[in-house]
Amino acid sequence: MNKKTVRDVDVRDKRVLVRVDFNVPLAEGQVADDTRIRAALPTIRYLVDNGARVILMSHLGRPKGQVKEELRMAPVAARLSELLGQPVLTADDCVGPQVQALVQKMQPGQVLLLENTRFHPEETKNDPEFARQLASLGEIFVNDAFGAVHRAHASTEGVAHYLPAVAGFLLEKEIEFLGKALEAPEHPFVAILGGAKISDKIGVIENLLGKVDVLLIGGGMANTFFKAQGYDVGESLVEDESLDTAREMLARSQGKLVLPVDAVVADAFAADAQSQVVGVDAVPAGWRILDIGPQTVSLFKEKLAGAKTVVWNGPMGVFEFPKFATGTVEIAKALAELDAMTIIGGGDSVAAVYQAGLADKMTHISTGGGASLEFLEGKTLPGIAALADK
Ligand code: ADP
Ligand code: MG
Repeated sequence: MNKKTVRDVDVRDKRVLVRVDFNVPLAEGQVADDTRIRAALPTIRYLVDNGARVILMSHLGRPKGQVKEELRMAPVAARLSELLGQPVLTADDCVGPQVQALVQKMQPGQVLLLENTRFHPEETKNDPEFARQLASLGEIFVNDAFGAVHRAHASTEGVAHYLPAVAGFLLEKEIEFLGKALEAPEHPFVAILGGAKISDKIGVIENLLGKVDVLLIGGGMANTFFKAQGYDVGESLVEDESLDTAREMLARSQGKLVLPVDAVVADAFAADAQSQVVGVDAVPAGWRILDIGPQTVSLFKEKLAGAKTVVWNGPMGVFEFPKFATGTVEIAKALAELDAMTIIGGGDSVAAVYQAGLADKMTHISTGGGASLEFLEGKTLPGIAALADK
């Protein structure tokens, strides 16, 4: 990686301002899933162990620039404190004289979690004065919030202009795995794309087509390709405005694009709908495609055999309904058995892999939904671009 990391700076006794992604789900005033907090622990522990004064900041939910009591960071601080095994100080705000005073009293090894940065409208506007106020709390800026690097906000991008700015370990890991897949993949390189909408993923398909040996398409977005080929897909989710794009991609793909050959169709969009397996050219009127079929699973497994790099984004079907999760689970199993670098990106895909109990069998599970998508599109991510080069 060509960006500096926490290893490249001397953090001892320094006030280190760290952007973490603590945008966690809450339920009844408690952290419902602490995956993102755990993901930041290596960086926080390293800073504590090396005698830094650790000032953490994050957004939580969408308070839209106002103080929302239910989106305060207190439950997150409580969970972090349990995981770290030490107290975590909290503040009523993320900037201002009271926060300054708190920070000045901190001892090396202490950890402070600032209040939700999005309580200020200036955060998402990347207001330079607000960024400068945040930056004034620290002497070094560490960005470890991969889930937020695709946003040019004050706490992700703005602060980097006022302080020496480096990557944390989580950010480093994400850039290394995703970067390796895009820049120097071991071949054969197979990508699997699915999910609901083709329009969300056109940029990803285009970028990956130039790099992969095979691109497997499943999920709802395959439907638009079927319709583009002239098949009647009944009530299936289709994006008519993307039909031309789908046709162009098929024409340009040099046979790399592989589409499903059969599908599990349902008579309603419901967990308990009637279902049957049909060819993709034989969807009955009034029915809709909710999963890839067994022949497609076999075909995709054949295409995956021997792969050395696999990137997967987007479930193969409506995996939230157990009856239509088979295709997604079978593909997860196939990946788990490969002797390859397997990378999973995208919020729902990651959830599906955890649901299948196969998360620990993958090489890398990205912590950033939107960020991993933009990375795979080949876009410059502002939160990464702003960090110091090696
Ligand atoms: P990710 O979050 O991994 O990037 P997406 O958000 O693009 O994935 O897509 C996930 C959603 O796609 C899931 O909610 C799933 O139910 C839906 N989906 C998958 N296949 C179909 C289908 N055939 N019809 C309708 N929705 C689908
Ligand atoms: Mg999603």
